[in-house]
Amino acid sequence: MENYKPDPVFENLGRDKGAPFYDPVAAAAFPDHIVRYRNQQWAEKVGLGDLSEEDWISHFGRFEPLPGNLSAPVAIRYHGHQFRSYNPDIGDGRGFLFAQLRDGDGRLLDLGTKGSGKTPYSRFGDGRLTLKGGVREVLATEMLEALGVYTSKTFSLIETGEKLYREDEPSPARSAVLVRLSHSHVRFGAFQRLAYEKNDEAIAALVDYCIAHFYPALAEKEGEARILSFFENVVQHTAQLVAQWMAAGFVHGVLNTDNMNVTGESFDYGPWRFAPVADPSFTAAYFDQTGLYAFGRQAEAGAWNLAQLGGALSLLAPVEALNEGLRIFSGVYEKAMSDAFFRRLGLQRTGEGDFAFVGGFLKWMTETGAPYERVFFDWFCGAASAERAMQSPVAELYAQDKFSEIREVLTSAEPDRPERLAHDYFKGAKPCTMLIDEVEAIWAPIADQDDWSVFKAKLEEIGRMREALGFEASRFIP
Ligand code: AMP
Ligand code: MG
Repeated sequence: MENYKPDPVFENLGRDKGAPFYDPVAAAAFPDHIVRYRNQQWAEKVGLGDLSEEDWISHFGRFEPLPGNLSAPVAIRYHGHQFRSYNPDIGDGRGFLFAQLRDGDGRLLDLGTKGSGKTPYSRFGDGRLTLKGGVREVLATEMLEALGVYTSKTFSLIETGEKLYREDEPSPARSAVLVRLSHSHVRFGAFQRLAYEKNDEAIAALVDYCIAHFYPALAEKEGEARILSFFENVVQHTAQLVAQWMAAGFVHGVLNTDNMNVTGESFDYGPWRFAPVADPSFTAAYFDQTGLYAFGRQAEAGAWNLAQLGGALSLLAPVEALNEGLRIFSGVYEKAMSDAFFRRLGLQRTGEGDFAFVGGFLKWMTETGAPYERVFFDWFCGAASAERAMQSPVAELYAQDKFSEIREVLTSAEPDRPERLAHDYFKGAKPCTMLIDEVEAIWAPIADQDDWSVFKAKLEEIGRMREALGFEASRFIP
């Protein structure tokens, strides 16, 4: 545990004032513990790679405290807008903060749970997570990390031997407890709850916490400027995150304010889907009947959520100034879209016209119904892939007139690290994808015969893609 750097700072936040941010809770006692996924790569990065299987289970299945860390788990308090209606009855209802630590870059990371038992915020829920829900979160985080999206990581998934009843899964469903590693997770909804309670002092304390641990460059700012610059940073990182989802063809599915982290890191994967084609109306959650969180409406959802965060912060700073802060969203988003799409295409940015190119590229994708991931795979690093692209099953799309302007940019832009094309991944017949039928095909043998081989093979395939694309695993700051 040489590189293990515990730093349980959240525990002390507001402790002297009755700790208005969380409640100490206990984990459920589970009848069984079978490790189904262990993120060895990240375990090593945070100094927990040498834990034995037994120790892994005692910490991430039984939640015995890690050395020097939180003495007991805490359920974090928050509210949130769910599908745009305010809900003051939420909070960590099936999870808690288990531990905090630092990685090699000094980032503050949280180990938080999903499915670890009931808390004061469980309402009518059982506090549990289905094994399928856990497997889905593993698949989402592995894919997004490989595609260069700034995401929480799944740290551990342990099957726990209970039977759960769910409307949206064949029941009884198998149970699991998941541990997530995230660049902390202060939700927009945590601020909303404090505003609802008109607790200015606690809002200021939470801003101080966020600045100290996520935005240390703002440490010197004081008064209203402190609040405003914090808000602008959240606006900026949220816009960048949405752009990364777009370039990955990812639909988060539940963009409620309690699922948005002020660090701009993506987390909490429920009914997510990858879009097979660039259809702006493509929706992930079956319960999202109006398409509020559809693929093409994610920027709007991000901006709307930021406006709610701004509303909460307006207890400490003037509304007009916060609105000004929100107005940077579209400019940041344009730049972030250009950065994210060029990065995914393996190209260096060319200049001012890049955003117009991205718009035209997406329009072409939408109109032709070109398979999303395939196009990035076929044209990775531009000119150097031109011959390979013409061998693609969708080569006829690239031969059409309406592709010529796009081809022009793809083949004239400077490639970024074209040596990546030498990887075997690009010699394969198709890109690594995670469309819904593939997710179901991974789950079916687990459900039917407890056969994990397809799941494991997919993780290996994603690992090869991650290696080939060579995107930075942690924060992408263009
Ligand atoms: P989510 O849609 O997963 O972001 O969750 C929204 C809220 O519902 C959060 O407060 C969760 O803790 C809570 N919740 C979801 N599922 C359960 C469950 N099975 N038991 C208790 N609380 C839950
Ligand atoms: Mg959530």
